[in-house]
Amino acid sequence: MSPESCLNVLEELYERQRPLAEGKVATYIPQLAKANPNHWAVAVCFADGRQAAWGDTDESFCLQSVCKPVNYCLALEAHGEARVHEHVGFEPSGQVFNALTLNPRGLPHNPLINAGGIMCCSLIAPEKPLHERFELVSDFWQRLSGATPGFDNAVYQSERQSADRNRALTYFMREQGAFPPHTDLEATLELYFQSCSLTLNARELAVAAATLANRGVCPVKTSDAGVQEAQLAPRTLRDCLTVMATCGMYNFSGEFAFRIGLPAKSGVSGALMLVVPGVMGLALWSPPLDNFGNSVRGVEFCRQLVERIPLHVFEPR
Ligand code: GLN
Repeated sequence: MSPESCLNVLEELYERQRPLAEGKVATYIPQLAKANPNHWAVAVCFADGRQAAWGDTDESFCLQSVCKPVNYCLALEAHGEARVHEHVGFEPSGQVFNALTLNPRGLPHNPLINAGGIMCCSLIAPEKPLHERFELVSDFWQRLSGATPGFDNAVYQSERQSADRNRALTYFMREQGAFPPHTDLEATLELYFQSCSLTLNARELAVAAATLANRGVCPVKTSDAGVQEAQLAPRTLRDCLTVMATCGMYNFSGEFAFRIGLPAKSGVSGALMLVVPGVMGLALWSPPLDNFGNSVRGVEFCRQLVERIPLHVFEPR
């Protein structure tokens, strides 16, 4: 399919999802309950750097769980796969993203649900002060997206004031001996809340998704030398895309893999990042969520996209 026809399909699918009225904005974090359910944005960045966007693409939104694959990458880059997976599993949990449950080894099921996201935060430069740890995360998003992320302080305050479940999960994990020795639980939770409160707009998130689609090379910026540098080791990228493909959509991950067959990650702000390896990154944002906590318009867009363009990774070619 030519790039022009691909853009036509994306625009048509953007229009087709706009009237959808199903779903509810997240309310368990009080500040998220104020989200405008009409917001809808679609942005694409191709591996060659071409970009297009439709809808509310200049509005920033908080990343929420979309921060999790990036925190997983940071943990992998620092410690390697063997060490990281002493503390977090590989399997979809089959349960809601904040379920009070661990795998039979007493570890989070995977890096992309809350328990696993908190665990990855514990592995990001734990020896450093919190402001430097936050900067590491924020700078990494900057390198992936080519944009400086914002920070939604209202969401951050709201989330940390209503975090009983995440605290319960964290203390449960400590009781099970899941954390590395000497983990500072409060600092870990703070880094988790802060990562979830980073903001980007859809254009910027699409560039980050395109970096994951493009061997870790950000398609929209070059280094001073004019040589495009990979932001991630090849193995980190492979691991990250694999868990996104198997665990990125909470307890809808199996059906998403079956129907759409692409690595993705959603968040309760209604953000959804979709990676088409070698081709493009997409960012979809619409706050009303389905029962799994995934954006209704976002998931429907993905479903229709693979019906129109054969992008499913197991599509016979
Ligand atoms: N910050 C949210 C939480 O911890 C992230 C969850 C999500 O996006 N599903 O509950």
